[in-house]
Amino acid sequence: MKYISTRGYEGKFTAQEAIIKGIAPDGGLFVPESIPLLTDDDIEQMKTMQFCEISARVLSKYLDDFSESELLGYTREAYSEEKWGENPIPLVQLNSYNEREYILELWHGPTCAFKDVALQLLPHLMTASMKKTGESKKICILTATSGDTGKAALEGFKDLPGTEIIVFYPTGGVSEAQKLQMITTTGDNTHVVAVNGCFDDAQTGVKKIFSDSAFNDELNAGGIKLSSANSINWGRLAPQIAYYVYAYVELLRTEKIAKGEAINIVVPTGNFGNILAAWFAKQMGIPVRKLICASNKNKVLCDFFSSGKYDRNREFFKTTSPSMDILISSNLERLLFEITDGDFKQVSEWMRELNTEGVYKVDEKTLKKMQMLFVGGFADDTGVTKTILDVYDRTDNVVDTHTAVGFNIYNRYHSRSGDETKTVFASTASPFKFSPAVMDAIRGEGFSEGKSNDEIIKALSDESGLEIPAAIKDLSSKPVLHKDVIDKEQMQEKVRSILLG
Ligand SMILES: *Cc1c(COP(=O)(O)O)cnc(C)c1O
Repeated sequence: MKYISTRGYEGKFTAQEAIIKGIAPDGGLFVPESIPLLTDDDIEQMKTMQFCEISARVLSKYLDDFSESELLGYTREAYSEEKWGENPIPLVQLNSYNEREYILELWHGPTCAFKDVALQLLPHLMTASMKKTGESKKICILTATSGDTGKAALEGFKDLPGTEIIVFYPTGGVSEAQKLQMITTTGDNTHVVAVNGCFDDAQTGVKKIFSDSAFNDELNAGGIKLSSANSINWGRLAPQIAYYVYAYVELLRTEKIAKGEAINIVVPTGNFGNILAAWFAKQMGIPVRKLICASNKNKVLCDFFSSGKYDRNREFFKTTSPSMDILISSNLERLLFEITDGDFKQVSEWMRELNTEGVYKVDEKTLKKMQMLFVGGFADDTGVTKTILDVYDRTDNVVDTHTAVGFNIYNRYHSRSGDETKTVFASTASPFKFSPAVMDAIRGEGFSEGKSNDEIIKALSDESGLEIPAAIKDLSSKPVLHKDVIDKEQMQEKVRSILLG
């Protein structure tokens, strides 16, 4: 299987090349030339498989320059019991008397966010790709983060031979726990830098560095090659497809659904990576009725799915779900490419308009096609607060602020549509990662005021009966190892000084 650019670049790339490069030479995103299908046999066999085995099977169809057994070696390490507990990705029925709602808990990994699923695996894929393609340069992972990617990438690449990792995070745009997690990261090859601005500033800065060919030549001459751990990297997206396949197979295996019965999937969305993975799972043959794309107050996507107009020229809001505080959802480009049957000219034009004017509008046909499958919606912080309490009262589950955005949109969709389809909620973070907002929702506004992070975490543990995850415990007593703060114009210079000295 070869990979091509969403913007029509002539060359084709193997999966390994696509993973090393991260982004196509013309600035487009890599997509597989065709989408592989899951056979009935695959699904039957998966009913007896563990997640790591399902993951290897799904990946083998996309990354066919690896064998399934090689991939299984990587997924076994990435999803080990030591790192994730016995069941890495539990699918939990929300209510014993309601067979409709299921939470896919994606946050039992080392940093308590769903991004661990991909970022524990990506380093294996990347170093193996380097070896197999004879790449001798050092790989530097360059990443902009709205909070969770940064720490998950740092944990994945920490002390991995042949790699450096630089993470840029926006000042103030991440939660206290997220920030602490990042700036206390150990490891000889890890660099964490705060950028004055919002996530989009950091992401735009990183994209600029990637597309600056003179700078890249300079780095190459110094023996360094840049790559990305953001969900623009196919090696980051592909592992996410596997857990939607797993969720469907789990429902089949436990006889909650019949073979071929469609499910809904609810995804709290920022960069559009996670929900795009669900879309790929659907294209592979997993029956899906609706993909519910849940936004917070930065509701660019919600507006897009209703009007066809993508408009980033708007006020940016900081919310209690910071990992979704995004105005440019990069992975939408991949969906547009697929939905327009690979019309790269059109996609390039839309992306050019987005870059220059900050806005583009898709045609009626493309919009209709998307609206048949996607349901958009948004919730503000007040809605999120209510939903956390509602889900807790109704089901005894404490969900984090991001997952709550999903529930909020779904609840309204459900009462409006009467759609009784079995529904899987992607639960993207542990509530402990956002404990002040979660505890304020449960105990009333102002609860967290004046309390230390540790006190709030302890209160959440007492309230919910959940154990405090190791990654969150004692965060505030760990030494701060990364203190740099820069302006967005200084990002390239920073990369140069870190890598070339
Ligand atoms: C990154 C993140 C999201 C958004 O996922 P995308 O793939 O960027 O759409 C949602 N919730 C949490 C907790 C995240 O860390």
